[in-house]
Amino acid sequence: MRKPIIGGNWKMNRGTPKESKEMLIDFVPLIKNVINVEVVIAPPFTGLISAYEIIKDTNVKLGAQNMYYEEKGAFTGEISPQFLKEIGVEYIILGHSERRNIFNESDVIVNKKLKKALMIGLKPIVCIGEHLEERETGRTKDVIENQMMGSFKDLTRDQMIQTVIAYEPIWAIGTGKTATPEQAEEIHMFIRELISQKYNQETADSVRIQYGGSIKPQNAEILFSKENIDGGLVGGASLQSESLAEIVQAAEKSIQ
Ligand code: PEP
Repeated sequence: MRKPIIGGNWKMNRGTPKESKEMLIDFVPLIKNVINVEVVIAPPFTGLISAYEIIKDTNVKLGAQNMYYEEKGAFTGEISPQFLKEIGVEYIILGHSERRNIFNESDVIVNKKLKKALMIGLKPIVCIGEHLEERETGRTKDVIENQMMGSFKDLTRDQMIQTVIAYEPIWAIGTGKTATPEQAEEIHMFIRELISQKYNQETADSVRIQYGGSIKPQNAEILFSKENIDGGLVGGASLQSESLAEIVQAAEKSIQ
């Protein structure tokens, strides 16, 4: 059975040491009894250390929003996965659509980062998803298949199982426009089929696939009730402790 995973991606919206601490001091008690859902908070780099101080002995795990694919060297402005690991980071978000679209990250780069994260022992959450125009012209599955081939190239079966996929239709991110549970489920099933073709059914059944795109407390339960949706990656609604806690509770309910 797959354990649902909820990730809170704060993007560049909240991230000073003080802000990170304050939110988590509120949030942690709200979900302290949750045992069937994995909860990950991904502040900006500047909030990681103070976030870790608050969550280190709790059921909340620390994630980072990006990393470089080298461990050390002359890469001004980049962050080493090894440095992240040493300050308590467990999960790493890779290939978010904002990284792909604003910072031109290609599948080749995402793939290099993914392999390095796995090598270092960080748990990757890899985002894929189509633009509105691609959906409207019936190309969603082609886009997803290409991203799967490129971003997950040469992964062993074990590495695939350790990787979380976040299906995030770009038109649903930060827009308030959520994919319907049926639209999301269709693509999650398709992703699982692709994994099954490349590896086998057991592998496909083991990989966790989150949905992301304007998840809110009001739509979380119905999305998570779908068989192939294993929790969510949450942007806007992860900035408030109450709304994120309600989304976590919805994921906990979905498996009861
Ligand atoms: C995200 O940033 O991954 C995301 C899904 O954002 P939002 O929930 O705000 O749409």
